[in-house]
Amino acid sequence: MLVLKFGGTSMGTVESIGQSVATIIKAKAKKDDLVVVVSAMSGVTNSLLKATDHAINGDTDKMKKTLEDIRKKHHEAAKELVTDHTFFRDCVSYIDEKIDAMIYYMSEVSSSGELSAKSHDIIVSTGERLSARLLSCTLNSQDVKSSYVNMNKVIPTELTLETNAYWDEVVKIFKKKLTPEVKNNIPVVTGYFGPNPGGILEAVGRGYSDFCAALCGSALKAKEIEIWTDVDGIMSANPKVAKGAKVLEHITFTEAGELSHFGAKVLHPRSIRPALKADIPIRILNTFNPEAPGTVISGKPKTQSCYPFKSITSKEGITVIRICSLRMLLVHGFLAKLFEIFARHEVSVDLVSTAEASLSVTVDQPTSKLRKLIKDLEEIGTIHVMENKAIISVVGEEMSGENYIQGQIMSTLSDNKVKIEMTSVDSSLMNVSVVVDGAKVDKSVKLLHDMFLTHCK
Ligand code: ADP
Ligand code: ASP
Ligand code: MG
Repeated sequence: MLVLKFGGTSMGTVESIGQSVATIIKAKAKKDDLVVVVSAMSGVTNSLLKATDHAINGDTDKMKKTLEDIRKKHHEAAKELVTDHTFFRDCVSYIDEKIDAMIYYMSEVSSSGELSAKSHDIIVSTGERLSARLLSCTLNSQDVKSSYVNMNKVIPTELTLETNAYWDEVVKIFKKKLTPEVKNNIPVVTGYFGPNPGGILEAVGRGYSDFCAALCGSALKAKEIEIWTDVDGIMSANPKVAKGAKVLEHITFTEAGELSHFGAKVLHPRSIRPALKADIPIRILNTFNPEAPGTVISGKPKTQSCYPFKSITSKEGITVIRICSLRMLLVHGFLAKLFEIFARHEVSVDLVSTAEASLSVTVDQPTSKLRKLIKDLEEIGTIHVMENKAIISVVGEEMSGENYIQGQIMSTLSDNKVKIEMTSVDSSLMNVSVVVDGAKVDKSVKLLHDMFLTHCK
């Protein structure tokens, strides 16, 4: 059993769906049972969010125009892809039903000015409903038996993401829903699943269909979870930023967790836990170059290579909060009190760096969303806030025990006039993170990547 997940880039055009995606599915189906998970067609989730903004701002004309564009995009795709008349009619009436419902729904939002998390999820999920139905009808009209599986109402509302009950329960629900579908049929599953407490974008974030694929894999004990995208695998840096970035043959779950959490959007960080727990490898593959072996993420130990680390990643829109307090000196329990304030405001902290009388943390929210937190922090010390920063993370288990690489990272940046605002290295030395000004992020990634490449010359 394999799970194949196709991202928005793979579901981008008629050609990519009809030629690349459908061909990969047909080839894989010859050897294995499959579950296919899809994102919305490229750009559709953004358009749905834009239409929602128009509705909230009372601009119903722009809202309707944006939704009509989505209808047109799917109609045109169905016309080309769904050649069987019965499946074509089914597909088009489904598209119309969903877009009409969205127009009605958003008109209500516009007049009431209210939008609950649940309603927002119904809007967001529309992209995956349309793409999954489209792909399922495309396969059926090519004589590949397929079913459309909507994961919109599968999660009981009392479950919250961070609890153990969530994991056990969700895996059971996915198993029950998918097992009957896999026999003699290829289920095409909406990458959206829910409802989620606070809404999927709040609970999971963009790129949630990677997480859905990992949950499917874990539920059905898949041999592998394949994430099909537009690059040959996880690379030594984002290839859109660093020229000459290399594809990594293998990385561990821990390395993938660090990279994805710190900005490598090629995989959603939530995908790691279900795969790790069930010990299922994740493979990142290129829909537009299916022969390439891709990158395998597994629990196996590191592979040998001449490079000093695996990959460099960056995360922008970071705020650094520095707390200075003489009360910290020689007092136990101070940090517990400090982090309790962050927990109370539900603000999660990425990096931490401490001296005896001051401590700096990074959070990925702008100051405008942190006012209440900062007010409470001011009760325990003097607060300095720095906005528009970026975290650059250098990740790789081979760095452990190799102190010189840390030194090289710092000197490469400072020799090139990139000011380091903060650093954070844990004792395993597998993630060296530095905070730099947001305007210097691409320059920093390029500099560190050049250093990476020179190690193998
Ligand atoms: P999909 O639509 O398939 O979900 P995404 O856009 O979410 O695709 O993720 C793929 C993109 O991730 C690539 O096009 C690439 O620009 C970006 N990316 C960022 N960091 C890395 C990295 N280290 N290796 C590979 N790709 C990366
Ligand atoms: N379509 C969603 C998004 O753009 C989910 C995904 O791509 O995985 O975030
Ligand atoms: Mg993605």
